[in-house]
Amino acid sequence: MKQIVGRFAPSPSGRMHLGNVLCALLSWLSARSQNGSYILRIEDLDPDRCPRHYADLIEDDLAWLGLDWDAGGSSGGPDGSYYQSERTAIYQHYFDQLGAQGLLYPCFCSRAALHAASAPHLSDGRVVYPGTCRTLTPEQIAQKSRTRGAATRLRVPDQTISFVDGLQGACTEHLPTECGDFIIRRSDGVFAYQLAVVVDDALEGVTEVVRGRDLLGSTARQIWLHRLLGFEPPHFVHIPLLNDAHGQRLSKRGAALDLGVLRQRFTPQELTGALAYAAGLLDSPRPVSAHALIAQFSWARVPTGDLCLPPDFF
Ligand code: GLU
Repeated sequence: MKQIVGRFAPSPSGRMHLGNVLCALLSWLSARSQNGSYILRIEDLDPDRCPRHYADLIEDDLAWLGLDWDAGGSSGGPDGSYYQSERTAIYQHYFDQLGAQGLLYPCFCSRAALHAASAPHLSDGRVVYPGTCRTLTPEQIAQKSRTRGAATRLRVPDQTISFVDGLQGACTEHLPTECGDFIIRRSDGVFAYQLAVVVDDALEGVTEVVRGRDLLGSTARQIWLHRLLGFEPPHFVHIPLLNDAHGQRLSKRGAALDLGVLRQRFTPQELTGALAYAAGLLDSPRPVSAHALIAQFSWARVPTGDLCLPPDFF
C-alpha cells in the first residue's frame, strides 16, 4: 500500500486560531492513524504579510499541542526549503512549463474592476473571470504594459473536474463557468497560492490534503494544475467549519480565539479534548492528548456538517 503523507500548510500571517488548530489536529491524526508521515509547510508566499516570527510561533504552538512532523518548518527535510518564500525558483520552473504549453496570458484587470463588472458571482463569493484579457493582441499588451503591471492567468478549457472528497463526497466543477481562467502569478510578481500549493504538494509527495471547507472551491483548479504539470493529485478531505455551541460562526463572535489567548486558558489536553469532542472523536469534552486519539481516529466519526464546540468552552 502507498505510504500516506499528510501535511499542515499554514499561512503565517498571524497566530494560529482555533480553526487552524482543528485542521492541524485532524490532518495529523489522519496521517498518524495510517502510519503515515507528516509535513509542515510554511505558506509564506507573501513575505510582507508573513514575517518569520509567526512561522516560529506556529512551530511552538504545534509542539505545545503535541503534534510532531517528520519534515518541514525550520527543521527542513529531503525536499529543500519548506518555506514557500524560499522556493521561488521552483515555482518559476513550473510557471515556465505552463507558459511553454501556451496556457498563460497577461491580465491587466484590477480586482476592483472585476468586482464592479457584472461578472457572475458564485455562491461562495468567488468571481468567475469573464476573459477580458484572454484575446488581447500583442500591440494591446504592449500598450497596456506601459501603464500597468500584468498578472498572469491560466487559460482553462471546456472541461469538468470531478473528485470524491473524503468528507464532502462527490464534487464536480465545470472549469469555464464555475472557475474561469485563474491567476498563476500576481502583478507584483508573487506566484499565486494555487500554483505553489500544487507544486509543493506534488514535490513533497503529499498524498492526503486535509484542510478547511473554505478551500473546497480551490480544489478543482488544483487538480487541473496537477494534471497539466504531470502530477498525480492527492486525496482531499475538507473539514467542516467550527461553530460555538449555539451554532454561531466563531468568526462572528469577535472573540480573540488565537493560541496566544487559548494557551493562557487551557492546557493542551483540554483544548485537544474540546476540539476532538466537536469533531465527533470523543463522547464528552474531557482532557486528552493528541497522541491518545490516534488509535480510535476514523473519518467516519467526523460529521460532514458544521462542528460545535462544547457549551462551556467560552
Ligand atoms: N495556507 C492555507 C491557509 O492557511 C492553506 C492551504 C492548504 O491547506 O491548501 O489557509
